[in-house]
Amino acid sequence: MNTQQKYAIVTFGSHSALQILKGAQQEGFHTICICIKGKEQPYKSFGVADEIILIDKYDDYFLIEDQLLQKNAILIPHASMIAYLGIEKIQLIKTMYFGDRDILSIEASRDKQAQWLEDARLNIPKTFTPATIDRPCIVKFDGADGGRGYFIAKDYDEFKKKIADRYNESFTCQEYVVGIPTYIHYFYSPLTKELELFGLDKRYESNVDGIGRIAFKDQAGFALETSYTVAGNKPLVLRESLLPEVFKMGESVIKASQKLTKQGLYGAFCLETVITSDLQFYVFEISARIVAGTNVYMNGSPYTYLRYDEPMSTGRRIAREIKQAIARDQLTKVLG
Ligand code: AMP
Ligand code: AMP
Repeated sequence: MNTQQKYAIVTFGSHSALQILKGAQQEGFHTICICIKGKEQPYKSFGVADEIILIDKYDDYFLIEDQLLQKNAILIPHASMIAYLGIEKIQLIKTMYFGDRDILSIEASRDKQAQWLEDARLNIPKTFTPATIDRPCIVKFDGADGGRGYFIAKDYDEFKKKIADRYNESFTCQEYVVGIPTYIHYFYSPLTKELELFGLDKRYESNVDGIGRIAFKDQAGFALETSYTVAGNKPLVLRESLLPEVFKMGESVIKASQKLTKQGLYGAFCLETVITSDLQFYVFEISARIVAGTNVYMNGSPYTYLRYDEPMSTGRRIAREIKQAIARDQLTKVLG
C-alpha cells in the first residue's frame, strides 16, 4: 500500500468536485464524494468517486463524519460547501481539512477582505456608503452566492429604489470598474514556499453577458435589470507582458495573509480582477480556495503545460501537495 493509500480525499458533490476527485485519483488516493440525494449522477457517470455517500442536506455532513474519520479522509473545501454549510459550521468539522480555516472569516467579511488587499498594496475599487454614491456602483450582497441579486446604482435615489426590501442584508457598494473581468488562479505551496500560476478564466454571467446580444435601441423594450449570476466559465490567456504583475499580486497577498493568521493563505486561491483600458488590475475580490473557473483546465492549462510534463489541474495539484506533505511527514503544514 502506498502511503497516500492510507488516506482518502473527500469533497462535496458540486462546484469543482469532479476535478478535485479526478486529481486525487490521479495521485493515487481513494476518493469519496458526499452528495445530496438526487445529485449523484455526474459523480457516478464520470467515475471520479470511488465511493459516494448520500445525504439529504448539507448539515447532515455531521451525521456521516465518523465514517470519514475512520477512513483518514482529508476534506477539500470549495465555494458550494462554504455557501451551504456556512463558515460557523465549518469550524466544527473534525475531519482533516485542506487549507487555512482561519482565513475564512476574513474572506467572508468584505471589510476585512478589503483591508487585506490594501495591506498587499493592490488596486481595489473604491467603496461607498449608500448615501455617498457619486458614480455607477455595483451593490453586492455578502456570501458566496455567485453574483445573485447584485445591481447597479449611480446615486442614493436609485440605490433606495433597487435595494427595496433587502436593506437589512449585508452588502457593499463598490465603484463599478469598466474593463475585462479576469479571474486569476494561483497555487501557493507551504512546503516549497513557491507561488504557481495555474490559469485564468472569464465568467459567463447572466444576464450581463447576454445583454450585448440585443441592440441598444431594442433594450428599452425589455424590463431589464443587469444581473451577474454565474452560469459557467471560459478560458483565457493573458497578454504576456502582464504576467510579471500577476505574480507580484499573488505574492503580495500571500505575504499580507501571513500577518493575518498563523498559517497564512496556502493552496489554491484566486484574485478576481478587472483589467482597465490602461492595463491596470483592479482586484474586487479574493477567493481563498479552489475556484470553479479552474474547471476549464481539468486537463491542464497553457501555463501548467509549461511547468509540468503531465496534465495538471488545480484539483490534482492539491492532491499532489497533500501527497508530498505525507511523504515528508509534514501533513500538518497543509491542514487547517
Ligand atoms: P452551486 O453548488 O452551483 O449552487 O454553487 C455554490 C456557489 O459556488 C455559487 O453561489 C457560487 O458562488 C460558486 N460557484 C459555483 N459554480 C461557480 C462557477 N462556475 N464560477 C464561479 N463561482 C461558482
Ligand atoms: P463577485 O461576487 O464579487 O465575484 O462579483 C460577481 C460579478 O460581478 C463579477 O464576476 C463581475 O462580473 C461583477 N463585478 C463585481 N465587482 C465588480 C466591480 N467592482 N466592477 C465591475 N464588475 C464587478
